[in-house]
Amino acid sequence: MDNNLKNLILVFNCGSSSVKFKILNPDNEKTYLSGLIERLFSSDTHITWTYLERKYKTQIGSNIDYTFALNFIIEKILLKKKNILKNLVGIGHRVVHGGTKIKKSVLIDDKIIKYIKEANCFAPLHNPANLIGITSCIERYPILSKKNVAVFDTSFYQNMPEHAFLYAIPYIFYKQYGIRRYGAHGISHNYVAKKVCIFLKKSFDSLNVITCHLGNGASVSAICNGVCIDTSMGFTPLEGLVMGTRSGDIDPSIIFFMHKKLNIKIDDIENILARQSGLLGLSEVSSDFRYFERNYDIDESATRSVNVFCHRLAKYISSYTSVLKNRLDALVFTGGIGENVPLIRKLTLFKLSLLNFKVNVSLNDSLKLGKSGLITECDSRPAFVIPTNEELFIAQETMKIIKKT
Ligand code: ADP
Repeated sequence: MDNNLKNLILVFNCGSSSVKFKILNPDNEKTYLSGLIERLFSSDTHITWTYLERKYKTQIGSNIDYTFALNFIIEKILLKKKNILKNLVGIGHRVVHGGTKIKKSVLIDDKIIKYIKEANCFAPLHNPANLIGITSCIERYPILSKKNVAVFDTSFYQNMPEHAFLYAIPYIFYKQYGIRRYGAHGISHNYVAKKVCIFLKKSFDSLNVITCHLGNGASVSAICNGVCIDTSMGFTPLEGLVMGTRSGDIDPSIIFFMHKKLNIKIDDIENILARQSGLLGLSEVSSDFRYFERNYDIDESATRSVNVFCHRLAKYISSYTSVLKNRLDALVFTGGIGENVPLIRKLTLFKLSLLNFKVNVSLNDSLKLGKSGLITECDSRPAFVIPTNEELFIAQETMKIIKKT
């Protein structure tokens, strides 16, 4: 009998096109069960999971939605692991947006569910998915209904200064309607920033870094003395970098042009910018970075898309050096692309040579598939790859809240 098989936390992380789950002990960081359903709403949805170091993979059909995916995970996998379930002390849910009312991780009750619903408008691709995860546990499965905790991506941005979170539109829109920059991916930025302290041998509260979370969604954050002081995602997770299917920054006039001159309905424009743009829109082929990695410099559409992606990323990174009070300790890459695509790291760092970034090509090429470390030369400003672990961060937050209740 494994003595660590107690005080376990189940974590659900419902992303924009995936559901990740993990059962782990947040104190010793040991994972017992983990899995991922990828490519929801497509023709080829499959689940992969690992239980006690054995890997499993099953095709689960086409056009699968969140409710089906969660029920599949709970009924076909979790409920069959009774020895693990009886040691669960809580369930942590990633929630992208806490809206204007929730500032930090909380035990979920009806009032919190109402607040998360109210914040759906700020994260329309994410919060509804996060809520399905929460209600699946609370309403449908008594064994999972106790001690559900919500951990918010927006919490990391609560101390951003006003000059960074305000838009230059009439102030009343902020005061009365909460229109401001909220940020996203805070859990991941927070996690990797804490991890890089170990490499740099620095305390978090003296750390100045720029962290790049590059996944299907992508964002950059500037962290000064352990506090996030600016980030590329804004009012919703649509702003900022080029993403898998999201446009990131555009001139707002494009929306008026599409609507008034091209007669495209507002809902359709929203769909174009959120689901048909970014790498998918630019390439007209794919949003999956494996395609761009294979075809860069071979296929014109892949080259074009990667070049726009890296140009925007390098611009954000260099602009954030101006807010970091004269010191940048390191740059960190994370997320599916940041962790696994040396090409993107190399092309971006080449553009940042003015900031004294010098890539070590063999180190850079060697770091993927969960490996972490330095990717720059000894005389360079350091850049690191640090795999994110949002689920561990969520489990640790969940345990903290549970211990207080
Ligand atoms: P999200 O959590 O936002 O859904 P991820 O962080 O899982 O996204 O990142 C997804 C992106 O990372 C996709 O573009 C995918 O193609 C890319 N990616 C993941 N693993 C690899 C890999 N081994 N090689 C190349 N690209 C990868």
